[in-house]
Amino acid sequence: MSLFDLPPLPEVPVLGETEGYPVRRIFCVGRNYADHAREMGHEPDLEAPFYFTKSPLAICHSGATIPYAPGTADLHHEMELVVALGAPAFRATREEAEAAIYAYACGLDMTRRDRQQDGKDKRRPWDLGKDFEDSAVIAPLTKTSEVAPLGPQRLTLAVNGTLRQDATLDLLLHDVPAVIQHLAGYYHLAPGDLLYTGTPAGVGAVVEGDVLRGEIEGLTPLDLTIGPAE
Ligand code: MN
Repeated sequence: MSLFDLPPLPEVPVLGETEGYPVRRIFCVGRNYADHAREMGHEPDLEAPFYFTKSPLAICHSGATIPYAPGTADLHHEMELVVALGAPAFRATREEAEAAIYAYACGLDMTRRDRQQDGKDKRRPWDLGKDFEDSAVIAPLTKTSEVAPLGPQRLTLAVNGTLRQDATLDLLLHDVPAVIQHLAGYYHLAPGDLLYTGTPAGVGAVVEGDVLRGEIEGLTPLDLTIGPAE
């Protein structure tokens, strides 16, 4: 018994399973495509990935209509490959990191770009820019056993039918096993941990009424509609 009743952890549907994948943590990689790093005014950093996190309460399911987020005038889309872990990983080898991958999904790292810029300008954290309700959009997961090895798959995002982001997964600066291996040096990773792997160039603003469609070859597409602000 607790003092207050809380809703259960969000769960993401998994293709071919009746039960859902419970989300306990969300890690996100920053600037993991060279062309996106440059469009944000940075040279790509090949040394090591860096991260920010989102609360599980940021999860939003594909197909939703979300209110235009409060506290921003510059809400952006960032289309990303999402990785779901299915085994523990701590101080893992690359092979162990790769073996811990359970499934993949299409995701959107929705971003209050103006609030993120405030953080950069004032050397403060990015939480207001990144971690907010409905900011971690995710489509149903597909298990690794049903997906071709990651490489040349195309990732796209269209807004109202117009292509905005278009890249292939082999352009990731730090590939998925490398990111998991690096993170596992800092955390006891485990099932329930999601990883948003970064976005390619072409990020941009959305407005009320926009209809977003994100696709990654071999995975279930993602749909999102931007509704009016509350
Ligand atoms: Mn991102």
